[in-house]
Amino acid sequence: MDKINKDVIIIGAGPIGIACALECKKHNWDYTVIEKGSLTNSLFNYPLNMTFFSTSEKLEINEIPFISNNPKPTRNEALEYYRRVTTSNKLNISLYEKVDTVKQNGNGFTVVTDKKIYQSKKVIIATGFYDIPKLLNVPGENLEKVTHYYKEAHPYTLQNIAVVGASNSSVDAALEIYRKGGNVTMIIRGETIGERVKYWVRPDILNRIEEGSIKAYFNSEIKEIKPDNIIVSTPEGEITLPNDYVIALTGYRPNFEFLKHSGITFSNDVKQIPTYNPETMESNINGLYLAGVVCGGMETHKWFIENSRIHAKIIAKNIQSKI
Ligand SMILES: Cc1cc2nc3c(=O)[nH]c(=O)nc-3n(C[C@H](O)[C@H](O)[C@H](O)COP(=O)(O)OP(=O)(O)OC[C@H]3O[C@@H](n4cnc5c(N)ncnc54)[C@H](O)[C@@H]3O)c2cc1C
Repeated sequence: MDKINKDVIIIGAGPIGIACALECKKHNWDYTVIEKGSLTNSLFNYPLNMTFFSTSEKLEINEIPFISNNPKPTRNEALEYYRRVTTSNKLNISLYEKVDTVKQNGNGFTVVTDKKIYQSKKVIIATGFYDIPKLLNVPGENLEKVTHYYKEAHPYTLQNIAVVGASNSSVDAALEIYRKGGNVTMIIRGETIGERVKYWVRPDILNRIEEGSIKAYFNSEIKEIKPDNIIVSTPEGEITLPNDYVIALTGYRPNFEFLKHSGITFSNDVKQIPTYNPETMESNINGLYLAGVVCGGMETHKWFIENSRIHAKIIAKNIQSKI
């Protein structure tokens, strides 16, 4: 197969990959964004009714206005925004093409996908972290009734639901399912609802727990998932709860194997922060850049759209300086 030559390949068409594509277009570089799923695949897989915690102007890329009807934009508005930015700027994006390997060679990088082989002078990895859930690692986790992605409440009406976790995602899911007639129990490893839960949602969940309409077991963990029940270890001992579905929203992690295979090194601790120079976003490999939330390693809350959209400009400036 002949190699396709490019100046820049961007891996991932999330908000930050799109921001990088806009920079490449501005500089007249021959670039392609390669995306294994749909455009903004992570956002597409978010809960249908989710609302961002950021206001719309903080999600804007390349100063293109993001107009929302709401104080905080919804998933649908964000999909509309990034889609319109992409189509009206005629960005070069190849969807449903997965990058398997990135390998440095004398002239840059060989990028092998499930469809093509590219030769690129520079590569930007903007692969996010939403594809790999952090597992509970308990027996029964592979049952069909267990999911690590929450979409909408309707299927859970009149069912016994265990929501695992105490973050924004878990709290949103618990409240929504409760309001659609599901019987919700939260299983929470820590002793409180997460510190980062949206300030306007926090009183709602605390009040629902206090009045008993949503049950919550703190300092507790699921030990086993069975077809009709779950076994939970609580400070008062093990209990068995009737259960139809488990929604385990315990976070996600970047694809470390892919990054390692590309030659990127990591901090030698539990955070596993990939190596990059914050002034340039260049990794330990010359010409290989990291952009967006992938930069946080296991600290997946550290970077988000609001504070990582700047990576696109930083990278473009560094590439420009080397031409
Ligand atoms: C529920 C929720 C609410 C959030 N709310 C906010 C908010 O209010 N404000 C905010 O700033 N941030 C928010 N965030 C975080 C924000 O959505 C993410 O930070 C954002 O998606 C990061 O963009 P990204 O481009 O770095 O990564 P992503 O959007 O995850 O994009 C990465 C892309 O890379 C693709 N990809 C991965 N591997 C490959 C491969 N091998 N080959 C090809 N393509 C690949 C993926 O399919 C994906 O489309 C929220 C996140 C969640 C989960």
